[in-house]
Amino acid sequence: MSPEEIRRQLEFYKDLGVKEIYRRNVKATAPATEAPAPLVEIQLPGMAPAGDTLDRIRGDIGECTRCRLHQGRNKLVFGVGDPNAKLVFVGEGPGADEDAQGIPFVGRAGQLLTQMIENTASKEGIPLKRDDVYICNVVKCRPPENRTPEPDEMEICGQFLFRQLSVINPKAICALGSTAAKALLGGKDGVTRLRGRWHKWRDIPLLVTYHPSYLLRPYNQNAKREAWEDLKKVFHFVYD
Ligand code: URA
Repeated sequence: MSPEEIRRQLEFYKDLGVKEIYRRNVKATAPATEAPAPLVEIQLPGMAPAGDTLDRIRGDIGECTRCRLHQGRNKLVFGVGDPNAKLVFVGEGPGADEDAQGIPFVGRAGQLLTQMIENTASKEGIPLKRDDVYICNVVKCRPPENRTPEPDEMEICGQFLFRQLSVINPKAICALGSTAAKALLGGKDGVTRLRGRWHKWRDIPLLVTYHPSYLLRPYNQNAKREAWEDLKKVFHFVYD
């Protein structure tokens, strides 16, 4: 990476509220006659500052005005659940109920998600409650009319999602719907192509499944069955 690219990346992180970039000295092998020149490696895209915590990420987000979504926001929706969860669910962005309460997945789709988590786990003999996992979204402010977040909104807010995932470091991630899948896997494929098999976000196994809002539509009953299969797969992987 050229010095100019590094400078631009650092400015970008500063704008995001990242206050510290840590440097790691890497041993350089130099011919015996030359003084060893220490190389400096800077942790860049999506890196977590040393000693990062969920509280610190929330603090860095602050009263965010980094993208247009803040304009219609009532409450910023950071995330909820066990900060040491072995499993993290990632949705798209808050809806009206979440925006009002500041908690992800509390509306109709959220109630379905909670039921799916608790009922599927219970049928599989796994004592798992919603509070045992961590739940968050790609964007933390409600998009107007519940539209899909724009790429720049996802990129700006996605850096905080990446820090949340790095701090929690779960055994697996479950991406709910295409927006979460794209944010975490980077491609263009939607759920139908990606679901049902394992992918990776960094080193963490990631499974994509349908967004619960999609499952609420009455003509998507097959998808409901598939989503149940996906959840079973994730639960057995994480909790067996
Ligand atoms: N849909 C989402 O993607 N996230 C929520 O928090 C609620 C609904």
